[in-house]
Amino acid sequence: MLISDTCTVTYSPAYTIVPTYECFNRCTYCNFRTEPNQNPWMSLSTAQSIFKQLLNQKVCEILILSGEVHPHSPKRQQWFQRIYDLCELALAMGLLPHTNVGPLSFAEMQKLKHVNVSMGLMLEQLTPALLNTVHRHAPSKLPELRLQQLKWAGELQIPFTTGLLLGIGETESDWWETLAAITDLHQRYHHIQEVILQPHSPGTQQTFDAPAFDLYQLPELIAKARQILPPDITIQIPPNLVKDDQWLLACLEAGARDLGGISPKDEVNPDYPHVQEQALREILQPAGWELVARLPIYPQFDHWLSGELPTAVKQWRETLTVISYQSKAT
Ligand code: SF4
Repeated sequence: MLISDTCTVTYSPAYTIVPTYECFNRCTYCNFRTEPNQNPWMSLSTAQSIFKQLLNQKVCEILILSGEVHPHSPKRQQWFQRIYDLCELALAMGLLPHTNVGPLSFAEMQKLKHVNVSMGLMLEQLTPALLNTVHRHAPSKLPELRLQQLKWAGELQIPFTTGLLLGIGETESDWWETLAAITDLHQRYHHIQEVILQPHSPGTQQTFDAPAFDLYQLPELIAKARQILPPDITIQIPPNLVKDDQWLLACLEAGARDLGGISPKDEVNPDYPHVQEQALREILQPAGWELVARLPIYPQFDHWLSGELPTAVKQWRETLTVISYQSKAT
């Protein structure tokens, strides 16, 4: 029995680019970072050839996901400029950027707003206890710093995605506290479009020696989160980290309504390949769920966009309507 009238679950047809994997933090559960200066940063010409291949592939979102350069590093300005230029290029080629590159200064966030349709940052968990464990060597995982990013996003009217990382040493009451903090900020600024509930899923690179988050807790957690979060915030779960089809369906029945960006590779969890669109449909359709593509910005935020962004978004909304009509007709 479904809990609401709608049987629609959304996803974003996306492609992830990584300006750099280097990161000055050392979260012990990380399966993404490299040491600084080990690999060249992504060049604009490399990005341009990737974007060219994506045209006509129904990919609308470019997720820009990056390791972090320290705010006081002499390389910070160059790092920020590369991210900005990659967003600008994606936009110029008709794609919709969504940047998630760690904490930014207010000025950096303000600049990126002009070349992004939305942005994101995981809150993960607010408890400071994790600063003594998984975040002992991760200065940018200070809970106050991350909360401030959500506040600034609200002040700047940036549609925002955030979320919780589950099973990294927090308690149940930490979940409710983190969800309540998101709710408070959203009630002030009305800018959070999605909250991701991401189960810790051990990978081959991490040093954090802990089991995967117990997926059997996820539907109940989603149901409780649904009661805490305002109804206009969508709950997102990553289907590649909820491998059991029945539990994936149980998560939807509990109130999750979005499956996030589906791209060829999950850069954050490289050991867990994304389930592609057709395979998802085969799981969802028999249970009465319709999988619908969405943009990285929800329609209620369109009026916050300026410059080139409204035209790009309008074109994509029309394109998705046509694609959805064609897929229903076949
Ligand atoms: S999880 Fe993010 S912030 Fe932490 S080390 Fe990895 S890339 Fe850096």
